[in-house]
Amino acid sequence: MIKIVGGGPSGISFAISYLINSRKDEKIKVYDGERNYEKPCGEALLNLNMNIYYVEPEILHEIKDFYIYDGENLIEERHYSSGKWFIIDKRKWIEEHRRYAEKSGILLSYEKVNPFKEKNGSEDLVIDATGPFSFNKLRKIPIARAIISSDLSLESEVKLIFDAENIGFYWVFPSAGKLINVGYGSLLIKNPTSKLMEFMNKKFRNLRILNIKTSLITLQYRAKPIYTFGYTIGEANGTVFSLTGEGIRPSYVQSSLLGKFLIELRDFNKAYNTVINHADFKELSDQLKLQYNLLTIYQKLPLSMRRSLLRRIKHAIDDYITKNVIDPRKVLFKI
Ligand SMILES: Cc1cc2nc3c(=O)[nH]c(=O)nc-3n(C[C@H](O)[C@H](O)[C@H](O)COP(=O)(O)OP(=O)(O)OC[C@H]3O[C@@H](n4cnc5c(N)ncnc54)[C@H](O)[C@@H]3O)c2cc1C
Repeated sequence: MIKIVGGGPSGISFAISYLINSRKDEKIKVYDGERNYEKPCGEALLNLNMNIYYVEPEILHEIKDFYIYDGENLIEERHYSSGKWFIIDKRKWIEEHRRYAEKSGILLSYEKVNPFKEKNGSEDLVIDATGPFSFNKLRKIPIARAIISSDLSLESEVKLIFDAENIGFYWVFPSAGKLINVGYGSLLIKNPTSKLMEFMNKKFRNLRILNIKTSLITLQYRAKPIYTFGYTIGEANGTVFSLTGEGIRPSYVQSSLLGKFLIELRDFNKAYNTVINHADFKELSDQLKLQYNLLTIYQKLPLSMRRSLLRRIKHAIDDYITKNVIDPRKVLFKI
């Protein structure tokens, strides 16, 4: 039997891919502590390779207009004729994946797995897809997200407000209907909820907070197999872009390829190395590594240099928005 702990984007896409590629004689079981996928998220998905997903997400908004701020100052805006990001209903999407998995014969069990017990006892192949909750020792920060209503109405636009002082950003995204998804995370602020509250009280009139939650997000990616109580995949393996927080797409791509190659090679480390060099993941993996390295350099710079680098983002902004790719040469030398 193969046990997958965590039924988020990574665990569930891994399970489906493993099943599709297997001879179907092995039991696949996915555990998740929550029957409904509850983890807070910005729910933004880049409009890239949408055919990789086993279940099509419901698209709530197509994002064409981007406003980038350094604190109070608008430093860049971009307007595209087609949607470069989608805002999706992530909870519904994950739950549809889970139903699809169950119908295909994958067992789903809604129980929290104790990693320490699992480590000591299991004879089965165990996969750690617990996202930022993994005991993987990678660098993580707390991050807060609220769903609100206010006078502001967003349709096809998003705002990213950088906080150079604390090395992080606020986001303001549309959500279901007229609701707004607002969040904040930074390297230097341990309690992002109070910063987010301050921001919302200042920026929104007739503010009504429907839901506010704090979670963790992983910033560090090492491009190496990491073993906890099982082999880590997706965010548990660090597949989140440090400079943007995008984790759904890289986690999904890595996990579904790992499911396929684990069946083919029957060895997790070999499968991992094959995926790292696979055409569909190599660029993502290189960019994940690069963004973490850039973040570690950026945080060592004095505030004035951090601000001036932010202003140079305009030279690389289209790649950042449309592909989540940062080319440091474009930022530094405008090439
Ligand atoms: C506030 C916030 C905003 C974000 N915004 C975006 C965004 O807009 N776009 C984007 O692409 N990414 C975003 N991300 C990142 C993205 O949410 C994750 O990188 C992505 O969901 C990773 O998928 P995953 O399956 O690896 O982990 P997760 O989605 O975290 O799923 C892990 C699953 O494991 C389960 N679990 C954990 N521990 C146990 C246990 N012991 N036993 C059983 N089950 C367990 C959890 O219940 C959960 O369902 C955001 C993250 C946060 C926190």
